[in-house]
Amino acid sequence: MFPTSLRHIASPSVAGNQLTIGVLALQGDVREHELVLDDLGVAHCQVRSPVDLKGIDGLIIPGGESSVIDKLSRIFEVREPLISAIAEGLPVLGTCAGLILLSSTVIGAIEGQQTFGGLDVEVERNAFGGQLESFESSIEMPLIPGGPVNAAFIRAPIIRDVRGCSIIATLPNGEIVGVRSGNCVGIAFHPELVGESRVHAWWLDAVVAGAQR
Ligand code: GLN
Repeated sequence: MFPTSLRHIASPSVAGNQLTIGVLALQGDVREHELVLDDLGVAHCQVRSPVDLKGIDGLIIPGGESSVIDKLSRIFEVREPLISAIAEGLPVLGTCAGLILLSSTVIGAIEGQQTFGGLDVEVERNAFGGQLESFESSIEMPLIPGGPVNAAFIRAPIIRDVRGCSIIATLPNGEIVGVRSGNCVGIAFHPELVGESRVHAWWLDAVVAGAQR
């Protein structure tokens, strides 16, 4: 069940800050991320074209279908500006397909599928199987206060090689499902689909901390 309000979980620094977070709105669960940002009291806008990247403090790349988001990013001519913004340090949170789009190497990519980069990791698409193998689980995320994090896995990837990135989330069996490197965070799961706002709140705290430096 999605709780009616998660606002109490937002930290004072996030709630009191004039952040604007972009949500890449080419395909996928854009609305669900917007609802979490609403509940955390954070302004947001949809990113579909290069001009939409101007003035945002951070970007969420939602789950969906990474090959479709990749293709649409080229059609909408937002791919190259997005790659530049990531390289210049724009804070980015990628969830599921968003993680795949941030990864340097993708196992199981369709022919011609490209990514934006940002995380030097190898991910395997659909590593748990198809839609019917979707599941919910508790994830160990030691950086996040309040114990294990609730997460939905829907045709989710697994991170097979973390290379230079730090591991931030693991399944109870030890599989790696979250990494961070510099300004990029990628998670294989969907906290936004199960009423879990702590991952967003933690990431937003990091965005605020980065903006204040
Ligand atoms: N399997 C999808 C892909 O490869 C990701 C699924 C999701 O984002 N829930 O893009």
